[in-house]
Amino acid sequence: MPAVTVEDMSKLSKLEVDPLARAREPKKRVSAPSGLEGEGFPVRRAFAGIPTELLDPFVHMDQMGEVDYAPGEPKGTPWHPHRGFETVTYMIDGTFEHRDSTGGGGLITNGDTQWMTAGSGILHIERPPETLVASGGLFHGVQLWVNLPSKQKMVDPRYQDIRAGKLPLFSSPDGGALIRVIAGDFAGTSGPGMTHTPIAMVHATLEEGARLAIPWDSGFNSLVYALGGSGTVGSGPDAAPLQSGQLCVLGDGDFIEVHADRNIVGPRRSLEVLLLGGRPIKEPVAHYGPFVMNTREELAQAFDDFQHGRMGVIPAH
Ligand code: FE
Repeated sequence: MPAVTVEDMSKLSKLEVDPLARAREPKKRVSAPSGLEGEGFPVRRAFAGIPTELLDPFVHMDQMGEVDYAPGEPKGTPWHPHRGFETVTYMIDGTFEHRDSTGGGGLITNGDTQWMTAGSGILHIERPPETLVASGGLFHGVQLWVNLPSKQKMVDPRYQDIRAGKLPLFSSPDGGALIRVIAGDFAGTSGPGMTHTPIAMVHATLEEGARLAIPWDSGFNSLVYALGGSGTVGSGPDAAPLQSGQLCVLGDGDFIEVHADRNIVGPRRSLEVLLLGGRPIKEPVAHYGPFVMNTREELAQAFDDFQHGRMGVIPAH
């Protein structure tokens, strides 16, 4: 169960779609392969197999967990660098601690989001806090990489810590879907996250049989990822099935439509989806490991700068 829930959905404003709006229909669907990140925490590589131009302005996304750790099991990453993009870490359940080479850091937990603009370069470490390592417990989140346009790849690093309570919440007209807005404008309300590139990021929970229709900026791309449960994405005869761990890229239009199955098999009886969209940057993408640049030369420069300590150094404490 996501940490952010609502007792009485009828108290929320409903997000409506214009009756003349055009649904975005499924274009490509993939199943995310499972892997291990950092010191060995389980992830699903949500964007694997999707051409870069369909993802633009996004680069990469991991679903972290969902895993219920035994005591001593929780794992994180070692110190590592980033340059040229922004990381958005959304903790659905559990806690992640973060420290970086500028002396910054913080804790995100149960519905919080940390937005880090790596920009010109930073070293950081992401891991569960000692208390959680000792106790074990639930760990579930996503980390999304948002590209920066060439003009902004070398901006100074920046953070936004977004507390769970700051997310605008809406319901679907049928009252069966809870919509949490992390970024983007919906019904005149803006989500708290700010990227250099405009994006929308929404986490919705659909009860069995519920229908979600959400207006979507026609200038954005649109990706729907199922974090758990099962349903369909798209409208009418073009709707495609979507299961836990699958990503669907949608075509042009004005809104996204998702239905939850009437009988969902699995640990929870709901469909959890992440809806993502942004204005494409339309520049060449040179991505290798922790760096996302425009050219191979810039990647080589990033490695050199990292190796010579020009992205910062690991603090003594
Ligand atoms: Fe990182």
